[in-house]
Amino acid sequence: MKKKFCSLALLSGVLLWSVACTTVPQTGRSALHLVPSDQLASMSATQFGQLKQETPISRDPVYNAQVRRVGERIAYAAGPDMPNAQWEFVVFDDDEQINAFAMSGGKVAVYTGIFKIAKTDADLAIVMGHEVAHVAAGHANERVSQQLLAAGGALALQFGTSDMDSDKRALLLAAYGAGASLGVMLPYSRYHESEADEIGLIYAAKAGYDPRAAIPFWERMAAQSNGAPPEFLSTHPAGSTRIRKLNELMPKAMQVYRNR
Ligand SMILES: [Zn+2]
Repeated sequence: MKKKFCSLALLSGVLLWSVACTTVPQTGRSALHLVPSDQLASMSATQFGQLKQETPISRDPVYNAQVRRVGERIAYAAGPDMPNAQWEFVVFDDDEQINAFAMSGGKVAVYTGIFKIAKTDADLAIVMGHEVAHVAAGHANERVSQQLLAAGGALALQFGTSDMDSDKRALLLAAYGAGASLGVMLPYSRYHESEADEIGLIYAAKAGYDPRAAIPFWERMAAQSNGAPPEFLSTHPAGSTRIRKLNELMPKAMQVYRNR
């Protein structure tokens, strides 16, 4: 009975939506989350561990202290949205990567290249707030869920709605695993980027950093991005659109900053 329901559910996006639809608390937007958040967090922790083994880690005391200092305040601001996070902040030693990212469960990495653009704690708070906002808003889960729909949908079509034997079930689970782990590292959509800008700006303000730093920071970032853009610029809204939206959000962010 359970297997039948599973096949049926994979075939029916509408049914699935009603089963696994959640709301992004910060913006009220509906989103599809198929993976339990603790499972996503443990997959992310594994991948983060691998990345730490493959990537040189910076021992620069100034960079490390700054990332920890800002990271802990951003973690405090995002805390109510991520009550189960096990925060970890790492500085990767790569001056060519003007980049940063966060993964489910509170794993945050900053590349040393970012310090070419992030000159102050407030600048760093803008970037780290943005990256943590992706996690808090469940963007990784949405990407993984899209992969699962694709993988599971293909298999369900192949097998029809007949009861699955254990081999087929194993295949479905393998596809689930492959799709899910791929999804953890997929780039975000432009919509996700705008949402992360919005939530991240509030996090930075709540953490005690002047949110107005976001405007010159993202302007410098846009100016820097000729040539191969870093991951989080490649899908970001065009520079001018982003600045306009940030300016629209600024009064609300300033209110949070002043009333914290
Ligand atoms: Zn982003």
